[in-house]
Amino acid sequence: MSLEGHEPCGTPAPGCAQTAEGGCSAPSPSLPRLSERDAARTVGITTTVPSELIFAAGLIPMDLNNLFIGSGVASDLVAEAEACGFPRNSCAWNKGVYATARRLGLRRVAAVVQGDCSNTHAMMEMLRADGVDVVPFSYPYSPDDAEWMQLSLERFARALGASLDEGERWKKRLDEARAATLRIDALCWRDDLASSEEQHLWTLSCSDFLGDPDSFRATADALVSEAEGREPRSPMLRLALLGIPPICEGFFEFLDRHGARVVFNETPRQFAMPKPSDTLAEQYLNYTYPYDVFYRLADIREQIAERRVDGAIHYVQSFCYRHTQDTLIRRALNEPVLTIECDRPAPLDLRTQTRIEAFIEMLQAAR
Ligand code: SF4
Repeated sequence: MSLEGHEPCGTPAPGCAQTAEGGCSAPSPSLPRLSERDAARTVGITTTVPSELIFAAGLIPMDLNNLFIGSGVASDLVAEAEACGFPRNSCAWNKGVYATARRLGLRRVAAVVQGDCSNTHAMMEMLRADGVDVVPFSYPYSPDDAEWMQLSLERFARALGASLDEGERWKKRLDEARAATLRIDALCWRDDLASSEEQHLWTLSCSDFLGDPDSFRATADALVSEAEGREPRSPMLRLALLGIPPICEGFFEFLDRHGARVVFNETPRQFAMPKPSDTLAEQYLNYTYPYDVFYRLADIREQIAERRVDGAIHYVQSFCYRHTQDTLIRRALNEPVLTIECDRPAPLDLRTQTRIEAFIEMLQAAR
């Protein structure tokens, strides 16, 4: 959808990478503009949506969060979005996703309009104003609402030109790729054979399977085979990471250097749809992320007990509404919880490093 009368974003400002015509002119080897052909068959996604239906439509999902944070120019992208009009005091994930979509020249983005956040709504309005076609998807408010879920799946399929039956067939195919990443998760928490960073990257990538589920699965299977031959390396401390993925760099490596491992990584694990299901509706009702904190807590408590977690780090993103849930999470858990917050993509800052070190020392002393 192109909105008539929209002016290309903003006046030239430091960090702004747009040309007067609205195209991105910044050199970005890691985010090259898509070819016409690729732009036509790609659907940008800003959080997990039923990717089965995107594949069923003959299209390819592309997770803009992962591209943004892995671009090597994440700070520039945030600055670029601010130069386009995003407020300084708004979520940097949101800004990065917007600038990534623009740089790639995406024509279509799938947006979650219930089950994500209102920042996404405004970002989608910015993209619509840039001429990007926005395909909405709505999770039900309650994970008990199977009727709403079915209706949402039908609407999403129709908007993409996919059939639900074909989507269900894709579910079986994607289940196999997801299962490979859940084996990596088990190698991390149960067998001490995979790192938390490996677990993080593989489960996180289940949002779009890097655009090619078969190759994704084959590479994940190869990692599983290689990791099974490693010597087990048990951590001194077993941590849970709750909340959205941290925007800072070097988080897992820092923990690793201090003898701690994330053995339960709440949100990326959810991207791998860990609870078995027979249908798309069931799968996306089991997926905890879009629903309320109490639904998430049931999964968190169960996994913390099973994975013998010593303490939890709750990551909160600056200017994110989920920050408010921190108090509910702290109240609900018996384990010690450290809350850390970051604003923009950057190496883990010294203050946060010191707080994590103190938390680790406290947990070790309590053992
Ligand atoms: S981090 Fe929070 S505010 Fe930012 S996009 Fe995610 S849910 Fe929205």
